[in-house]
Amino acid sequence: MIQLDNIEIKNYIAIEAFSDNSLLAVSAINLDTYEVIYANKVMKAIMADTSAKKCWESIYGQESQCAWCKVHSLLVEDPSQEYLIYENFNEVANRWYQLQDKIIKLQNGTNILISFALDISIQKESQSQLIETHVKLAQQTQTLLEVQKRLREQANRDPLTNMYNRRYFSDMAQKIIALAKRDKEPLSLLMIDIDNFKKINDTYGHSAGDEVIKLLANKLIGLSRESDISARFGGEEFAVILPETDIEHALIFAEKIRIDIEQNRFVYEAGEICFTISIGVDEFNPATDRVIDSSLNRADEALYEAKKSGKNRVCRFTK
Ligand code: GH3
Ligand code: MG
Ligand code: MG
Repeated sequence: MIQLDNIEIKNYIAIEAFSDNSLLAVSAINLDTYEVIYANKVMKAIMADTSAKKCWESIYGQESQCAWCKVHSLLVEDPSQEYLIYENFNEVANRWYQLQDKIIKLQNGTNILISFALDISIQKESQSQLIETHVKLAQQTQTLLEVQKRLREQANRDPLTNMYNRRYFSDMAQKIIALAKRDKEPLSLLMIDIDNFKKINDTYGHSAGDEVIKLLANKLIGLSRESDISARFGGEEFAVILPETDIEHALIFAEKIRIDIEQNRFVYEAGEICFTISIGVDEFNPATDRVIDSSLNRADEALYEAKKSGKNRVCRFTK
């Protein structure tokens, strides 16, 4: 640091600091009486009552010593600290200040508190604007993430039934196959198609057809396990993948669904719609099948067989 030993410069700086042009609000307080014995022009401009006796009255308009008063800290708690620097909101001036407090001891023993206060309201304002911007940005990011999540979810689902679509089914199937191969667990598939659906549409109308599709979707979800993946492949065609299930258990499950639908009485606009489904079943073969489509094709063939042999039945794939 450059040593300033030129008394002229020192005096100039001291005078400037205490001059009426100073940007700092400067005050000196006699700590025997707590009277303000000096206040520069900037300080006077922000004082509550320049004629009041005590500093807390004259500067801050308080009836008793200020709660944030640093005199005790400077005198008793840590007299070694040369300056105490802190920020304070001045309610009289309605502005933020950074204060630098220092106590000097006169030769007669009187302690004088010298305070330099720098108006930092603009910095505080931009700081709080910055925080506000950050908060807003964080909120917007959160909303964006939620929207993205919703869109991703929607992209995986069929809008009519809210069931998974074929693309998601295929993605999930690949993962399920990998697990089944690793754990040497069986894995089966169902292909489900509503019988004579065209006739339902023709007889009761397209909206009734939609309701039938939704009903079957809900049944499939309701009857399957949490680890099963059911999807609408399109039209009145559905597929269900059954992890940890061999063909025998898959046939039992398929029959359960078939009977449930057959016995179902669906009330629609004062009428009753009865319908049936056909199901093709196949077990994935980890030794020879690489992709789910091999098994899906066999389940589809089994479904075709079910249709051909009279509908409303469950068929397994046989070579
Ligand atoms: P099968 O017993 O052999 O399965 O005959 P089907 O009448 O069920 O099958 P087909 O393939 O002849 O007809 C299916 C009909 O499903 C034709 C199409 O108009 C209708 N369809 C496809 N998607 C929808 C849909 O989202 N809502 C409704 N209401 N109908 C649909
Ligand atoms: Mg059909
Ligand atoms: Mg069909």
